[in-house]
Amino acid sequence: MCEVCEVWTADDLYPCRICTRMFHDGCLRELGYLRAEALQEMRDTAHTVTGWSCYYCDNLNLLLTEEEMYSLMETFKQCKIIPESCIVSDELLQYRHHASKHLFDKDLTDEQEEEVLAQFAALDPEKKGHIEWSDFLYFESLVVLKKFRSENSMVRLLTAKERNTARTVFLGLDLDEDGVITRSESRQTQQSWYHKQSKDSQSCNVRLMGLCSPMNCGISHVGPICESSPASSGSERSKTDENRPVTWADFLRESAIYVLAARPNSSAMHIRLPL
Ligand SMILES: [Zn+2]
Ligand SMILES: [Zn+2]
Repeated sequence: MCEVCEVWTADDLYPCRICTRMFHDGCLRELGYLRAEALQEMRDTAHTVTGWSCYYCDNLNLLLTEEEMYSLMETFKQCKIIPESCIVSDELLQYRHHASKHLFDKDLTDEQEEEVLAQFAALDPEKKGHIEWSDFLYFESLVVLKKFRSENSMVRLLTAKERNTARTVFLGLDLDEDGVITRSESRQTQQSWYHKQSKDSQSCNVRLMGLCSPMNCGISHVGPICESSPASSGSERSKTDENRPVTWADFLRESAIYVLAARPNSSAMHIRLPL
């Protein structure tokens, strides 16, 4: 049934890949929530493996409480970030410096600064030299969620469809069916949530090939993972941690933020992937 007109005509309904809502093309056009470009994207992707996120699910900012939203907007204001404008890399750096002071009461280290620049690149997959306002907003919304919410509360934000997909991925990794996978397997999957469509043809999906989850079928490109992950760290991680057993409940808690981060239709990466 269409979310807007509440009429059921199966032939031209476009389903959301995250929630249970469906929409008529014409009803969305009339509402004016989506621009022509976004409507075309819906027509192109809603019935494919990639799928399409409706405007509720696409907007990660809607996951914040009113207070969280207010605090985020205040920080924007203090940093002279103009809502609805594009952000260039210097502005992002300046903003993150300020936000770090505001949220964590300390300056960014050189390493963190580099990370911000890597994040900028991930948010600008088409290398336009700026990031879109919505991508910036979604990224910052995730930072707030990560900082203020428990993993359990993020699990509660997941929809039935998202839990089902996560379950399938988990079962795909638990080949001996003992209900437990390893920490390193769990971490690797976090990349597989990004089954987005990208406009460029640059291919760095090789590292995902070994993963056998249904989410990976038909992915042609998973975004700028390669360039956003510096070749450092990882190696110092102890072997015991890599092999630490991860149950289904652990897996869901560890994955929740990444599953949420993969909601937007944009080809930008809205979170730093674990290295
Ligand atoms: Zn309708
Ligand atoms: Zn939805």
